[in-house]
Amino acid sequence: MARQSRSQVGPTRHRSPSTKTVLVTGGSRGIGRAICRIFGQSGWQVGVHYRERKAEALDTLDLIQTAGGTGSIYQADVRHADQVAAMVDAFCRDHAHLDVMICNAGTAASALVVRQSVEEWERVIETNLTGVFHCLQAAAPRMVEQKAGSIIIIGSYAGLQGTMGQAAYAASKAGLFGLMKTAALELGPSNVRVNLVLPGWQKTDLASHRLPEGEALHDHCLGRTPNLEEVAKSVVHLAQLEDVAGQVWNLDSRIL
Ligand code: NDP
Repeated sequence: MARQSRSQVGPTRHRSPSTKTVLVTGGSRGIGRAICRIFGQSGWQVGVHYRERKAEALDTLDLIQTAGGTGSIYQADVRHADQVAAMVDAFCRDHAHLDVMICNAGTAASALVVRQSVEEWERVIETNLTGVFHCLQAAAPRMVEQKAGSIIIIGSYAGLQGTMGQAAYAASKAGLFGLMKTAALELGPSNVRVNLVLPGWQKTDLASHRLPEGEALHDHCLGRTPNLEEVAKSVVHLAQLEDVAGQVWNLDSRIL
C-alpha cells in the first residue's frame, strides 16, 4: 500500500508534546466519528482511522477541526496485521506517543447459522475479533514502553446474549470479552488499562436497518436506545480513568 494513503493528512496546528493523543479505528463513520469529534473538542490530537472511505474520514477531520481540535487520517484494513502495525508506526512517528487507542472498527453479516457462508463468517471474525487482536499487538508495546496507556474496545450486547441471524457478529463480539480481560491482566502491571464498552443500539450504517423500536425495546429499562453524543462522551471519559482495567461498561439501559 502506498505510503501516502496511510500518511498524515490535515493540519496539525497547536501541536504540543504534552497534548494527549488518541487513535480511533473506524473513525470515518458512525460511532467512531462521534468519538473522534468529542476527543477533538476536548483538545486531543486525534488519529482518524478508515479502511476505504477516505472522503468520510476527511469529513470526520473537518468536524474535529470545526470543534476546535486537531487530527490526521490513517488507512488500514484491520484484518491485516502488517497494515495495522504500519498505521500505529505512522501515528507514533507523527505524534511521538500514543495515549489512548479506541478499537471501534467493525462489521456485521446477517444469516442464520445454518445458512451462514464460511467467507462471511471469516470476514466478520477477522474484522471484529482478529482486527482488535492486531490493534492490541501493535499498540500495547508502545504503551508498555511509555509505562502508560488506555485501550477501549467497542463490544456489543450481542456478544453476551446472541442475536437471531447474527452468529458471526455475536461470536466475534463474545470473543472480545475474553481478549479484553486477558489483555487487561497481562498489561495492567505495565500501567496499560484495557476495558470494553457496550455502546447500545445506534443508528449507523451497520445497524440502522435493524434498530429496535416500540415493543422491541421492552428489555431496555428506559424504553429507548442511548444517545450517541452521550455514548461518545462516556467513551472519552472512561478512556481517561487511571485506576480501572478489565471492566465491561454498558452504556444503555439493558440489564447485564
Ligand atoms: P459503521 O458501519 O457506521 O462504521 C464501521 C467503521 O468500521 C467504518 O469506519 C469502517 O471504515 C470501519 N471498518 C469496517 N471494516 C473494516 C476493516 N476490515 N478494516 C478497518 N476498518 C473497517 O459502524 P458503527 O459505527 O455502527 O459501529 C462501530 C462499532 O460499534 C463496531 O465495532 C460495532 O460492532 C459496534 N457496535 C455498534 C452498534 C450499533 O448499534 N451501531 C451496537 C453495538 C456495537 P470505512 O468507513 O472506511 O469503511
